[in-house]
Amino acid sequence: MTGPMLVVRDLRTSFRTSGGVVKAVDGVSFGIDRGEVVGVVGESGSGKSVMAMSLIGLVPEPGRIDSGRVLWKGRDLVRVPQREVRSLRGREIAVVFQDPMSSLNPVQTVGRQIAEAVLLHRRVPRQAAMDRAADAMAAVGIPSPRRHLASYPHEFSGGMRQRVMIAMALVNEPDLIIADEPTTALDVTIQAQVMSVLDEIRQRTGTAILLITHDLGLVAAMADRLLVMYAGRVVEEGATSEVFGRARHPYTLGLLASLPRADRPAGERLRPIAGNPPSLVAVPPGCAFHPRCPYARTPAPCATDEPVLDGWPGGDSRVRHGAACHFADEIATGAGLAPA
Ligand code: SF4
Repeated sequence: MTGPMLVVRDLRTSFRTSGGVVKAVDGVSFGIDRGEVVGVVGESGSGKSVMAMSLIGLVPEPGRIDSGRVLWKGRDLVRVPQREVRSLRGREIAVVFQDPMSSLNPVQTVGRQIAEAVLLHRRVPRQAAMDRAADAMAAVGIPSPRRHLASYPHEFSGGMRQRVMIAMALVNEPDLIIADEPTTALDVTIQAQVMSVLDEIRQRTGTAILLITHDLGLVAAMADRLLVMYAGRVVEEGATSEVFGRARHPYTLGLLASLPRADRPAGERLRPIAGNPPSLVAVPPGCAFHPRCPYARTPAPCATDEPVLDGWPGGDSRVRHGAACHFADEIATGAGLAPA
């Protein structure tokens, strides 16, 4: 197979609510290749998680995919029957959710839960499924995995429960893991352990990872490429080092400036982005970020014309550094554009 394993084109997902239509994902396009880690960052409500759930048919009611394509190994998951999407979920594409306690069944042993994930997709005897479960637990660093097959979730710490979730995601050797805030509920040292387990698995098996997070430090350490989302749209994308080193969108600059850094002078205040993310029922016209943007030129062009992500070369977006800003180049180079 040539080209990216997953290609998403102009994906749009909305929710019909009493307050109006919430455009949670509004024209998102990207690709992901085998073995790649693509990070998706943005504030809460930027559409990261709904976008990820749209890829695998898990948009909660009353949401629906309005248009776009999700090409997985050439098949469009938006158009194939739902049973086909269900059959590849867990087998080819697995998900690790944020909170392992609410994702695991408290009254079933972890061994049984992981083995169920095997039995759902493979015709193997139960004992063989249990053997695979023990292997997966060993792969994520759970000590004495055979003994722990009979443990219940409450007998594990938070970090160990998240390892169980990763073992469940891995047990069928998927090609892609969608990790939605996989370490948010964990303390920093456990977070590092869990991420190193994921990275080690990626290197060993070639599994790609779509890492949804609001933690820029995490994506800096893990992701090859980055998508920055705002108001349901991708506003900047590129190689992680490029985006961090030469951000082209004021929103990305704002996220970076609000990050605590060891190389800043002691006592220097963090600079949060002014204002709040917009309601997705009434996204501002033109550039959705203009009411908060220190560089906005209003009314035109920032409040009148919607900027497009520049430099789109086609289905494979791996090498471009695109930004949806009328002044992206001036902002990247610092030439001739001061905050308004
Ligand atoms: Fe700011 Fe205008 Fe760029 Fe939007 S288009 S990010 S408002 S400068």
